[in-house]
Amino acid sequence: MNFHQYYPIDVVNGPGTRCTLFVSGCVHQCRGCYNQSTQRLDSGVLFTQQAEDQIIADLNDTRIKRRGLSLSGGDPLHPANVPQILKLVKRVREECPGKDIWVWTGYTLDELSDQQREVTQYIDTLIDGKFEQDKKDLNLEWRGSSNQIIHRFKID
Ligand code: SF4
Repeated sequence: MNFHQYYPIDVVNGPGTRCTLFVSGCVHQCRGCYNQSTQRLDSGVLFTQQAEDQIIADLNDTRIKRRGLSLSGGDPLHPANVPQILKLVKRVREECPGKDIWVWTGYTLDELSDQQREVTQYIDTLIDGKFEQDKKDLNLEWRGSSNQIIHRFKID
């Protein structure tokens, strides 16, 4: 998996202060995409073990209280990204107690394959669906267009 940006301190993408990772790769080709440069899977730089370890360390850094991790892109649930995203969210669950995980994807919840759906077992919130320009609404919180749905999951 490649990624474009990692912000260890972010107050824009999700509630509270967060770590945010923008991964590479997206098949959805939404008109008006806000992040076109991330669509190619081979764009950006390699997401290494070191980068993964850094996210875990940042979430557990007690000097700055972060509420959780946001995963955006690109599409974290692009099939090529899912194995590494699954590994990351499982680690956050196990190693970062009390932190929440938010994921943005261009797929709707109903469209997810079994493998993509497995990720939802480890996250708190999924914002789903393509960005639809005719449904764009700047007043929406966490979403670009009104077709997108915020799904909240109960973590066991
Ligand atoms: S899902 Fe997001 S990143 Fe992918 S094309 Fe649509 S707006 Fe762009």
